[in-house]
Amino acid sequence: MSKTLHIIGGGMAGSEAAWQAANAGIPVVLHEMRPTVGTFAHRTGSLAEMVCSNSFRSDDHEQNAVGLLHWEMRNAGSIIMDTAYAHRLPAGGALAVDRDPFAEAVTAKLRAHPNITIVGEEITALPDGPTIIATGPLTSGALANAIAAETGQDALAFFDAIAPIVYADTIDMSIAWEQSRYDKGETLEEQRAYINCPMTRDDYEAFIDALLAADKTEFHEGETAGYFDGCLPIEVMAERGRETLRHGPMKPVGLTNPHNPTVKPWAVVQLRRDNALGTLYNIVGFQTKMKYGAQTSVFKMIPGLQDASFARLGGIHRNTFINSPTLLDDQMRLRSRPNIRFAGQITGVEGYVESAAMGLLAGRLAAAELKGETLPPVPQETAMGALVHHITGGAEAKTFQPMNVNFGLFPPVEGLKAGRRGRKDRYKAYTDRAKAAWTAWLGREAEAKPSSSAA
Ligand SMILES: Cc1cc2nc3c(=O)[nH]c(=O)nc-3n(C[C@H](O)[C@H](O)[C@H](O)COP(=O)(O)OP(=O)(O)OC[C@H]3O[C@@H](n4cnc5c(N)ncnc54)[C@H](O)[C@@H]3O)c2cc1C
Repeated sequence: MSKTLHIIGGGMAGSEAAWQAANAGIPVVLHEMRPTVGTFAHRTGSLAEMVCSNSFRSDDHEQNAVGLLHWEMRNAGSIIMDTAYAHRLPAGGALAVDRDPFAEAVTAKLRAHPNITIVGEEITALPDGPTIIATGPLTSGALANAIAAETGQDALAFFDAIAPIVYADTIDMSIAWEQSRYDKGETLEEQRAYINCPMTRDDYEAFIDALLAADKTEFHEGETAGYFDGCLPIEVMAERGRETLRHGPMKPVGLTNPHNPTVKPWAVVQLRRDNALGTLYNIVGFQTKMKYGAQTSVFKMIPGLQDASFARLGGIHRNTFINSPTLLDDQMRLRSRPNIRFAGQITGVEGYVESAAMGLLAGRLAAAELKGETLPPVPQETAMGALVHHITGGAEAKTFQPMNVNFGLFPPVEGLKAGRRGRKDRYKAYTDRAKAAWTAWLGREAEAKPSSSAA
């Protein structure tokens, strides 16, 4: 096997992967199509361009999962994090950066690295040698076609349709109840797979009014090409008629409210389990283009969700991503073509930091393999491990949608108070545990064992 690693796409993930692999002594060729071929969102020819916000979000590594991911990445010598800190702007607890100098500095560091060659070209076919595909949410059409030909059309999405995701322990179960419609399912677990929130007629009418009045986000110019009717936002369904939702995702049939069995709800909002741990639930059919502030207030009108905390809010965006839980192994390799790894947003993570984190890991995994070593699995207790575990197996494959890092992806710390009150102690326990596990993993990585299967 060739010892040169090819990385396609020089965004957040590809830049980080190149840096990590090159620092491990592997020759890297980084293929980036910009500026020759552009996208509707990028403006420059720099690597690691921030296409929209200039923030890497919270930098709080004790109380916030994304801040923890910053911490883990910095401890692993991340080019994205170190350069972000060097170009930091005042932004309270957030890590905001001066975007152009940041991207130019990442580009300069990668260009100057003796193990990295940057080639300005669009890649249109899947290569045969060791490769990381990190072409992001706006992967060019020809390469997307080549990926779809390999994975099957159904395993590659061109839009996300994200319904809000709620932390299970913030749902008020004195109002909501567990039941699948018509009690369907072989096992008790399946018959109780959904959480149901009942609405009276007044609740429903007020909810529809709020949906119609809420502030919405517009699509970017050029973003809707290829958008189809199959994943309509709930507010658009409501615009089509006040009863549409009650006959669609909010239909109240096949369900009995054990808190009030004699009264049929006028409408029911259903939540479906979103991860194997059972810590996260998505609101079924509630993909939306409402602005985040509006979403929080509108969704808290749902009885049972009045105190809900959201692991992520809904959205619909142009976003090319693969069904990682079915396609990738735990080394981020394509099962059908293990010479190819995927990294970044195309794996179904969401956001600059998460994308760069998956680049960091893919770069290290690929480098180790090329050196004939196998890295131990990243502990799920770390932010990095929680995220990679989610995309390569923890998430429900059938309803897989892009995910931010959040504490709902972590195995619970036993013996701590659930709910809002215990949150501060719980998050501190998560982050302390993660830091210890990450530090140990980095230490063990340094002593990685030779692999019998690697080239
Ligand atoms: C409009 C828009 C707004 C966004 N806003 C935010 C935000 O505010 N905050 C946030 O955290 N995230 C945001 N995101 C998500 C953001 O894109 C990702 O978080 C992050 O940039 C993904 O990193 P990546 O490396 O996977 O992809 P990218 O950073 O997009 O990098 C992929 C690179 O691959 C290149 N490429 C594509 N196809 C090919 C090919 N065939 N050959 C060679 N090169 C190719 C592209 O030119 C690009 O440079 C936004 C996304 C979009 C589309």
